[in-house]
Amino acid sequence: MNGADRLAEPLSRVLGARTAGGLAKLGLETVEDLLRHYPRRYGSPGERTDMSALTVGEHVTVMAEVRSTQVRSMRSRGGAMLEAIVTDGHHTLQLTFFAKRAGVLRMHESKLKPGSTGLFTGTVGDYRGRRQLTHPDYLIVGVDAADEAEAVLEASRPIPIYPAAAAVPTWRIGRSVRTVLDPLTDEDVPDPIPAGIRAERSLPTLLEALRAVHVPEREQDWERGQDRLRFEEALVLQTALARRRAAREDLAATPRPPVVDGLVAALDASLPFTLTPAQESVGREIAESLSGATPMMRLLQGDVGAGKTVVALRAMLQVVDAGGQAALLAPTEVLAAQHLRSLEQLLGPLAHGGMLGGDARATRVALLTGSQGSAARRQALGEAASGAAGIVVGTHALLSEGVQFADLGLVVVDEQHRFGVEQRDALRARGDRPPHMLVMTATPIPRTVAMTVFGDLETSTLSDRPPGRAETVTHIVPADNAAWLARTWQRVREEVDQGRRVYVVCPRIDADEQARGEDAPPTEPADAPGDEPFTLEWDGDDAPAASVPLASVTETAAMLADRPELAGVRIGRLHGRLAADAKDAAMAAFASGEAPVMVSTTVIEVGVDVPQATVMIVLDAERFGISQLHQLRGRVGRSTLPGLCLLVSRAEPGSVSRERLEALASTTDGFALAEKDLELRREGDVLGAAQSGGRNSLRLLRVVRDATLIDQARLVARDLVAADPRLETAPALASAISLWLGPEREDFLERG
Ligand code: ADP
Ligand code: MG
Repeated sequence: MNGADRLAEPLSRVLGARTAGGLAKLGLETVEDLLRHYPRRYGSPGERTDMSALTVGEHVTVMAEVRSTQVRSMRSRGGAMLEAIVTDGHHTLQLTFFAKRAGVLRMHESKLKPGSTGLFTGTVGDYRGRRQLTHPDYLIVGVDAADEAEAVLEASRPIPIYPAAAAVPTWRIGRSVRTVLDPLTDEDVPDPIPAGIRAERSLPTLLEALRAVHVPEREQDWERGQDRLRFEEALVLQTALARRRAAREDLAATPRPPVVDGLVAALDASLPFTLTPAQESVGREIAESLSGATPMMRLLQGDVGAGKTVVALRAMLQVVDAGGQAALLAPTEVLAAQHLRSLEQLLGPLAHGGMLGGDARATRVALLTGSQGSAARRQALGEAASGAAGIVVGTHALLSEGVQFADLGLVVVDEQHRFGVEQRDALRARGDRPPHMLVMTATPIPRTVAMTVFGDLETSTLSDRPPGRAETVTHIVPADNAAWLARTWQRVREEVDQGRRVYVVCPRIDADEQARGEDAPPTEPADAPGDEPFTLEWDGDDAPAASVPLASVTETAAMLADRPELAGVRIGRLHGRLAADAKDAAMAAFASGEAPVMVSTTVIEVGVDVPQATVMIVLDAERFGISQLHQLRGRVGRSTLPGLCLLVSRAEPGSVSRERLEALASTTDGFALAEKDLELRREGDVLGAAQSGGRNSLRLLRVVRDATLIDQARLVARDLVAADPRLETAPALASAISLWLGPEREDFLERG
């Protein structure tokens, strides 16, 4: 049997059906699955779990010392019970076992010797005010040792603690791992890291690393093992990306070089403002890529209001100048319509192609949405197919719906995190010659993530903002401080009296919405299927438990109408459950100043543009993610009027929720915030989804923490792929890529 076969062996054959059945519940089917199921952390025998932190209903594994045991017979119910008290030194936890006969309990009693240390696992219950585990599974350290020397050794070793399930406690996993690990040799475990690279970096072999993480003798062992496994993950990932990049460079796109006196020049001459230096330089980068014969795949990052639209428009016009067409895709129909308006406004007569008195260079902009009338749709489809429309604006569905283009040269994807993968898939499915792609996002992707996950994209960043914009100041307002709240509404009054507008954002529509579960992140019913912008969101897992109900639009609007500070001020409402015309009416009344205070859900998060809006108040702000709050804040400070953002929250000082709000208050730099967001995500990071994507995916790598390592792996991978594009000299690496990532997962890399 060769190595790969050894690893692919089903656990049922190696461990027997019963054990394998338990492990299957954790998704572990093969020897390799089990070996790649790394301990989550390590206990040391001297350590104790803090019992005061246990919550009822939680499944826990605790390390504790046995203090006492007592077997009692139960007269009332018959049978007997064993009560053991275990302790962390300060608090105690009761373990309870019931049995028909005392004999079974004696067996437990003999293992649970007072003074011994063990791991205990079970669901925390509450019996007469005491925390307890009923019939816990447990492991007493040193009890299984063959002799005393071994017991002493075992008692000094780090104890691997595995991600476990109620049905399979951590030590049973550990025992199974040792059973499969013991007989293996280096030949059985092909190493994805080529020997040369291993030697250069003095890394252990894969087998050595697996032994080190699963059966460490001291702390340095598992640390060294993890380091090497982490590098392996980075290398597999980066090699996959390097190969993808190389493959893309082999594709042919139509070059669309700039022309001297075309639409781009005409637009530049007619713009009511001068481009910022960043818009200029990013424009040059894009112009150059579009001139090339390989498809551009570029991510354009720029904070809210940075002026991405005009950059995209100039790129689209360059393609039109070169005889091609461009498609601009927005995440929602509302935003698509808004894009059409702003493009037509920027273009002026340049969008009146084919019309009397139009500029000879002029083109047309067509809008294609699912909800438009059939006549308008037919006309737009006709203009796209004939080439009369140089620019076609629509939602993402546009490409998959099989809309025909005369010569599609550029696809611009606005405001999304999925990085054009779906669009590329759709285009591939249509068999089109690959167009250039420009993906725009206002939620900045930190450099570390861009490099790790989107390693094959080129990125451009609009690092400055158009001049003359006022800054927005952000404060945290404690929700339980009546004086502060009164001051807040007073401030709202002052703004309104000066002719300005105020948003008040709530996490819920009305009290009934509670049924949807307060633990869920705030969501907004989509306007139409697939019409919801994709946002990268915090899961809100440590937001304070909502013992006080969350603010809702309906209740807040009613409450504000009664506040003495706001007497006589009309309060508008906006949320996703309103009909489209009611939404439009609410927006119009707000924009005109008729209803200068707007209570709403996050529907206003993206794209809404009311320059007189100066104050953004977010209630229960801890319920929202950093990027979402940043987007909300971007709704104010959009003119020369300074903005004010008040985050009303019950988050305790020192909590992660509070830290997120403080990060927001401390900077308006979206990039710094995105980095902070990643840092505060616990398990995770943007790779979170890939990690939970099943077997054999990334486990140890963390984008922020491991940035340097990832960078090193990228260089190694680049050289490797340059020297040996098919990875013939590194077969184990090649198969790790297809096994870990698979064709679908490789795509996943770009989806974030
Ligand atoms: P975003 O990057 O958020 O998509 P937009 O492209 O919508 O930003 O631009 C925001 C506003 O700034 C628009 O009204 C746009 O016309 C304006 N704008 C863009 N570039 C400049 C500039 N260089 N100088 C002044 N205003 C600009
Ligand atoms: Mg925009």
